[in-house]
Amino acid sequence: MGLEAKLNSDGFITTTIDAVIAWARKSSVWPMPMGISCCAIELIAAADPKYDLARFGSEVMRFTPRQCDLMIVAGTVTYKMAQVVRRIYDQMPEPKWVIAMGACTSTGGMYRSYNVVQGIDQFLPIDAYVAGCPPRPENLINAIMTIQQKISKTKARDFQDKPLLETIDK
Ligand code: SF4
Repeated sequence: MGLEAKLNSDGFITTTIDAVIAWARKSSVWPMPMGISCCAIELIAAADPKYDLARFGSEVMRFTPRQCDLMIVAGTVTYKMAQVVRRIYDQMPEPKWVIAMGACTSTGGMYRSYNVVQGIDQFLPIDAYVAGCPPRPENLINAIMTIQQKISKTKARDFQDKPLLETIDK
């Protein structure tokens, strides 16, 4: 039964503030597209009409971290680039989530090299990993749905003591 049908029959619904806030939050997750290399092409494809990320309320890619609550890291992260990724993450307001998209981002992938970070969980908290080289857009959408499930279990007070922004080291 849809919401409209419920309202037509009873004229009211019962819920909790936590449920309403979590529902609103999970229905409007705005990604920060941290496209660093080839995986970014599939990230872009996920937002096209064929895959239609708008169905999940996540088609609004923001290129300023202060308007985002989901960082999607897509590509090979070098140690030099890791500092930039971390700084952008720190500039996103709480609450926020991170997806590691692709083999390179998650583990370094084929780059067993001195200059490539062997998994971004070394410097970022990760909420969902996406397998593949590159992952298909469906895989990314599945990760976004996983984030939505996580958000739907949150309570507003889970975040009340967190600072809006992390302290950024100079
Ligand atoms: S996982 Fe594959 S497609 Fe993605 S950045 Fe690495 S090499 Fe490129």
